[in-house]
Amino acid sequence: MIRSVNPATGQVVQTFEEWSADTTRETLDGVAAAWEPWSETALSERAAILRKAARILRDNRIELADLMAMEMGKPVTQGRLEIDKSALVCEYYAENAERHLAPEPVEGVGSKAFVSYEPLGTVLAVMPWNFPFWQVFRIAAPTLMAGNAMVLKHASNVPMCAQAIEKVLDQAGLPENVFRTLMIGAGQVENVLAHDSVAGVCLTGSDAAGRSVAAVAGRNLKRSVMELGGSDPFVVLADADLDKAVQVAVCSRCKNTGQACIAAKRFIVMEDVYDEFVARMKDGMTALKMGDPMDPETYLGPMATEVLRAELQHQVDRCVEAGGILVLGGSVPDGPGAFYPPTIITNVSADAAVVQEELFGPVALVFKVGSEQEAVELANATPYGLGGSVWAGDGNKGLELAARIRTGSVFVNALVSSTPELPFGGIKASGYGRELSAWGIREFVNVKTTVVG
Ligand code: NAP
Repeated sequence: MIRSVNPATGQVVQTFEEWSADTTRETLDGVAAAWEPWSETALSERAAILRKAARILRDNRIELADLMAMEMGKPVTQGRLEIDKSALVCEYYAENAERHLAPEPVEGVGSKAFVSYEPLGTVLAVMPWNFPFWQVFRIAAPTLMAGNAMVLKHASNVPMCAQAIEKVLDQAGLPENVFRTLMIGAGQVENVLAHDSVAGVCLTGSDAAGRSVAAVAGRNLKRSVMELGGSDPFVVLADADLDKAVQVAVCSRCKNTGQACIAAKRFIVMEDVYDEFVARMKDGMTALKMGDPMDPETYLGPMATEVLRAELQHQVDRCVEAGGILVLGGSVPDGPGAFYPPTIITNVSADAAVVQEELFGPVALVFKVGSEQEAVELANATPYGLGGSVWAGDGNKGLELAARIRTGSVFVNALVSSTPELPFGGIKASGYGRELSAWGIREFVNVKTTVVG
């Protein structure tokens, strides 16, 4: 049974029967049949459909944001921006796919040689609940523009968002069965990947899910892109603009109720400005309004599920056991809903096992360091390598440190974010492969060599 539960109230909104293996297989057969003609459509035709999808998303931004608020607790103001961003990525690939996929001539081989980027078949997207529209559209837009078909196995707690995405693409005029939402749980992913028509999988989720699905992809010799968790460092040097750094620190840690892969999770602050940074961050986080995600004034909604909240509380308790001092928050409030308060913990031993984990909620760990060397070492001392930021008054010094941070992206004096123009992804336990930009659209294509003698 797949259930949609409102995390602000705990009430079940709707339940869905999980598809049988036969239904899943028949659907994949239908998608495979739809892929052949789709792979031969003109790029201009695909682009027109994506542009229409963008318009439909924008026209329905209020209702779709309400749906996210109801299904996974995202405050509606943030949900509306997510819908806008989903529209933007559709337009980006509608505009740029032809350029990114243009055949490239190679001189000096035969009388003519070139490399082209050809579609591969069906791509399976295994997606998380935290950005239920953006995560899907940022892979659907390039996948479809490249001439592939796509099947979506969305997180089990957002089945209604999954259905709404299929509806948007359907209304945009995508031919039947080129994109299908599979109403299945994690247990059926293995069979989907084994289907002959499925060429690869992109998974966005925890590293545990990534390890499991990447292994299945490997056994089936299917391509995979893994966008996994993170524990992004946020390094503050003594000469940083503290006003700006604190403002971004609060936003980065608490937006989407702290449930973002590229949220800053570990704040590494030079001792000269440490006390001031912690005090100001406490003020900033205290001022955030927590409550009904349907209220446009709300900044912090409930966490997506009560189970996730209980896991976060357990991690907070382990931080305290590891010497951590609770400067703010740290315990589950009374009342209904999966709410968790903004929390700041200082003094945790950097060696504690919990510091190696991802804290997926509004909980900031702040560390005091005495040198840039110490800051870099601490920044790199986790299994993850997704994003990170450096805050420095001297921009060159910021760049110097950025070069020493081992992550898929580093931002200097700016919020770590994703945007269609830039490649996005991680290293180490944060995964491999890239989404977005030219790099993203070339993940699921046949890089084909043609030579004329
Ligand atoms: P999750 O529990 O790993 O689930 C993600 C997806 O994988 C869901 O559809 C889930 O299905 C499926 N799944 C889980 N275990 C699986 C398995 N063994 N075999 C097949 N499928 C499996 O993650 P989440 O709680 O939804 O999302 C939060 C995580 O995503 C965080 O770690 C966050 O950092 C990461 N994330 C990463 C990025 C990035 O771009 N790097 C972006 C956003 C989020 P069910 O729901 O049915 O279990």
